[in-house]
Amino acid sequence: MPRKPPIKLPTPESRRVGFAIVGLGKLSVEQLIPAVRTSQEGYVAALVTSEPDKGVEFARALGLKDSDVYTYEGFEGLADRADVEAVYIVLPNSLHREFITRAAKMGKHVLSEKPLGMNAKDAQKIVQACHKAGVLLMTAYRCQYSPHHWAARDAVQGAQLGAVKLLDSIHVQVEDDPTVWRLQKELAGGGPLPDVGIYSVNTLRFVTGQEPEWVFATLHQPKKDKRFREVEESVSFMLGFPDGVTANVHTSYGAFKTDTLRVMGDRGNLLMDPAFTYEGLKLSIETKDGTMTPSFPAYDQFGLEFDHFAQRVRDGKQPWTPGEEAVQDHVIMDAIYESAHTGKVIQLKAVKKKDAFRGTRPTLPSAEG
Ligand code: NAD
Repeated sequence: MPRKPPIKLPTPESRRVGFAIVGLGKLSVEQLIPAVRTSQEGYVAALVTSEPDKGVEFARALGLKDSDVYTYEGFEGLADRADVEAVYIVLPNSLHREFITRAAKMGKHVLSEKPLGMNAKDAQKIVQACHKAGVLLMTAYRCQYSPHHWAARDAVQGAQLGAVKLLDSIHVQVEDDPTVWRLQKELAGGGPLPDVGIYSVNTLRFVTGQEPEWVFATLHQPKKDKRFREVEESVSFMLGFPDGVTANVHTSYGAFKTDTLRVMGDRGNLLMDPAFTYEGLKLSIETKDGTMTPSFPAYDQFGLEFDHFAQRVRDGKQPWTPGEEAVQDHVIMDAIYESAHTGKVIQLKAVKKKDAFRGTRPTLPSAEG
């Protein structure tokens, strides 16, 4: 008789990791809190917000006490909360460094939304603050916890596509609210590049396991449009990977929502469309033998990334996407801006090691059938 697959036993209550969610904006409310509620490894133990009434409403819905809600000024109150072992930073980008540093000083482990900082120097300071305090730091690159993305990576790095020659990726959407923090350089650090273009940069690095050696970029900033007085509307760039493998990327706040990844090898090609949405990712791999579209049991990227970090808090090992992984994206994005402003190709420091900035591999559901 065939053996049944092992049953995943729930993590005992006493081993689950308590998190404080810092920032109750759109992402926390619509994605993270619902995802975390299904987690078997962690749970929400506290909320940090500038709107205490909203915090209390959410706390009650989560079965927490009113006293589990903290303000940004009262953040250090978490220092006395032994049950809060980690914080999840979900604030505008310019505030990441301040809150990560304050959390690290309290000895709390940190999961932070992307982009980690405002630029490579800022992100490096964040990494140093966490090292100094001896706490773990993970960047919430949810796509690196998505089984679809791992299947794409396996196809790229295995024999399926043959030798990979070219890649391309698009991540664009319309940002039509001129007052949003994402269009303010001091809060966002840049325009679509650090917000959505970062998915293309990070995913191209993830699927190849390699680092670009050079970048070349151009950007468009129509300053007469009040949305783009401070940040660019669009950036198009090339990333040069080892052995002449080249990627073309577009990112924009001015074009209708499109998010794709394409990889072309000498024996096959791969398409993800959509490639970066929260749900409904689609992957197809075409070779001379036909087209394959792997499917997976239902999963939630935020839940899987959250579980991975909770496991690392328990075993103390480096997460798969530590702060260093994010510093490298910032190094590349800084070079993209430099290239766009100077018109020059920018050479990057060569990195030979595969997955040079990554830690412990996550355990994820595999394809069905
Ligand atoms: P949001 O505007 O919906 O929420 C931001 C939160 O920060 C709000 O609670 C707001 O009150 C608070 N805040 C504190 N100071 C603020 C200030 N000076 N200006 C504006 N808001 C302030 O933003 P969001 O979409 O939830 O994004 C938060 C973070 O999450 C960002 O770093 C963003 O890049 C990241 N994000 C990641 C994903 C993903 O898929 N991983 C998706 C969306 C956003």
